[in-house]
Amino acid sequence: MANSASIATPIYRVRVAVPVYLYDCFDYSLSQEQYQQAEVGARVAVSFGRQNLTGIIVEKIAPDAPLDSSFKLKAITELLDDRAILDEKVLNLLTWSAQYYQFPIGEVMQSALPTLLRQGKPYNLLARTWNLLDLHAEDKIKRSERQQEAYKILKLHPTGTGENLLNLAGVETATLKALEKKGICQCVLAEQDFSPMPMSMAQMPLTANPEQKKAIDRVLKARNQYQAFLLDGLTGSGKTEVYLQIMQEVLKQGKQVLVLVPEIGLTPQTISRFQSRFHCNIALLHSGLNDSKRMQAWQAAQTGKASIILGTRSAIYTPLPNLGLIVIDEEHDLSFKQQEGFRYHARDVALYRGNLEQCPVILGSATPSIECYALAKQGKMTVLELNQRAGTAVMPKMHILDLKVAQKQHGISQLLIGEIRKRLEKKEQVLVFLNRRGYAPVLICESCAWQAKCPHCDANFTVHRTPYQHLHCHHCGTIHRMPEHCPQCNHRELKSVGMGTAKVEESLNELFPQHDVIRVDRDSTSRVGSWQKIYDKIQKSEPAILLGTQMLAKGHHFPYVTLVAILDIDSGLLSVDFRAIERTAQLIVQVTGRAGRGERKGDVFLQTLRPDHPLLNILVNEDYRKFAKETMKEREMAQMPPFRYAALVRCESKNQELNTEFLQQHAQLLRQDSAGIIDIWGPIPAPMERKAGRYQSHMVLLSTDRARLHYYLRYWWQNILHNKPSNMKLSLDIDPQELS
Ligand code: ADP
Ligand code: ZN
Ligand code: ZN
Repeated sequence: MANSASIATPIYRVRVAVPVYLYDCFDYSLSQEQYQQAEVGARVAVSFGRQNLTGIIVEKIAPDAPLDSSFKLKAITELLDDRAILDEKVLNLLTWSAQYYQFPIGEVMQSALPTLLRQGKPYNLLARTWNLLDLHAEDKIKRSERQQEAYKILKLHPTGTGENLLNLAGVETATLKALEKKGICQCVLAEQDFSPMPMSMAQMPLTANPEQKKAIDRVLKARNQYQAFLLDGLTGSGKTEVYLQIMQEVLKQGKQVLVLVPEIGLTPQTISRFQSRFHCNIALLHSGLNDSKRMQAWQAAQTGKASIILGTRSAIYTPLPNLGLIVIDEEHDLSFKQQEGFRYHARDVALYRGNLEQCPVILGSATPSIECYALAKQGKMTVLELNQRAGTAVMPKMHILDLKVAQKQHGISQLLIGEIRKRLEKKEQVLVFLNRRGYAPVLICESCAWQAKCPHCDANFTVHRTPYQHLHCHHCGTIHRMPEHCPQCNHRELKSVGMGTAKVEESLNELFPQHDVIRVDRDSTSRVGSWQKIYDKIQKSEPAILLGTQMLAKGHHFPYVTLVAILDIDSGLLSVDFRAIERTAQLIVQVTGRAGRGERKGDVFLQTLRPDHPLLNILVNEDYRKFAKETMKEREMAQMPPFRYAALVRCESKNQELNTEFLQQHAQLLRQDSAGIIDIWGPIPAPMERKAGRYQSHMVLLSTDRARLHYYLRYWWQNILHNKPSNMKLSLDIDPQELS
């Protein structure tokens, strides 16, 4: 019953999503004037406990709504925005995400904001703009090509060019500062102009081949409604050209296009492909930007100034007033899934967003995920196939090398060494792939079989030789000096067993002393700019061996590579994770796609101890699609995702018994509650049980009924969080991608 006093005196309140690890929103009071100004989707500064935080208004509560009088209402500290910065659709998307992934709403809302706005900084930041002062400065910059380049661009807009635009055009801030020192230009802070720029073509599209044309037409037919498309085409079959031609029509309508690429895929080459086709504002959103650049790009997207938004995973939550198309390139890539904190999958969120915004979503890949094929089978996704590589390029041929019977030298089969030699003699390039960095994965005592293990993890130390000899745990980062003798038996001969990229580099240098071996992995490219140097070297037509980890596998174009050698695929074939074989196949095909892109035909060699692996043989002798079809059958038979819906509970503490007992007890509750709808596996120790000194335990929940799985989980998860001991860490991973 409402009491009469609350009707007589209106109470002005807003409900706020506050960035704390709690599942509720919180009510705050404000003045009548603030209330009138407040909009849902605007930021407010609030105090929470002892913290000052930035929250988002998610609801304006009617002033005459009854108030729980036992509750003391705090006032907001400040209204930070005079209008909404997150629009209704994005708020809807975020609310859905928080519910679907069962993560605190306040934390989820934060993922939609650039850091500066999260910190409560004002929205209307001034932007650095460069004005030209000297119109005849050619003589002053004769000696610097960079300065001449920058000067040319400044001259095009003498009255001021935004620094971010200049950066996009390849002009570095340092160069501008050098010009400023010479009195040639001047940096001023100016209000940003958010007016959109109509798109015009910078370059004519290619003539689409019949398959491309069909794909383009199919998507454009659905231009103003939601439909999901899977663009399934080999590497080099012209998927990007298809995106570009569809984008062209959407941009012409004055709408925005959101393009998501994998973390590693947002290279200068990718960016320049979009830039050289269209004259329009392009906003880049990725983790490499500093806070103010990211804010500017975000604002350009959010105000509608940018027509193309090119970003990685988290860009899916950017507010876009005018969204007309979503493209996800390399849809199968694992980097679209956030693996910690708010664990969402940008591809799945994109499909929901397409539906919400009523625009088409295109997922493209040469190796589509089993999830997408399954959606296609259910009629929820339209498949568009591209089967020809452009020009004369043909797909390389794959060969399996049986390591059990092969003659080897340094772990590489003699036959393969011979093949590599042949290519180098023909002045071609070779790509050697091994997904393991460091020198060797194991250090062993030859006398007593002692192995060097990380004291904090259930894992061997990796041997590294550069920049000095040391042991490194790739799981927790612990670094140890190299022991001089066995700590167990004092024996002096300690042997490095197995191979990492650094050891293979040594072996290849020994085998092919006249040729360059170019190693590309996290250790060799950690210095800024070194990747660019390597890349330039690869683009020259000189014989060389490129050696690397998966950094080499994605997206790049290596026209002179005619042979790809994959040294070890067995860890992927033997893993317990049900997705491991899919990932291995994707990696093989992606690496394979690097070869034979030029005029010459390519070959791929796979070294394995399991040459008879049935799925591997289907992949090698037929193709990825046939492989996917068979894998899908196996998944269906085993009732694994996507044929059942999964959730993974991870539990971590210093005591494994505590984990097991706690999870068992709650598993029992869930079993009773859910009446057989949820299949519970575990709890079991995680594949790596001890990591950084803490024990990990898992429990997998599976059900054919997604809605009911989520329904039971919701209550159960809140309960489990409420009851957990304070020294235990728990997380819930909805639709987990990795079971580790
Ligand atoms: P994908 O994105 O599938 O790897 P791309 O779109 O990058 O393929 O195309 C591979 C190469 O083929 C590029 O150099 C591209 O310019 C060229 N290409 C694509 N479509 C055509 C076409 N219709 N006509 C001529 N060349 C094309
Ligand atoms: Zn020993
Ligand atoms: Zn460790």
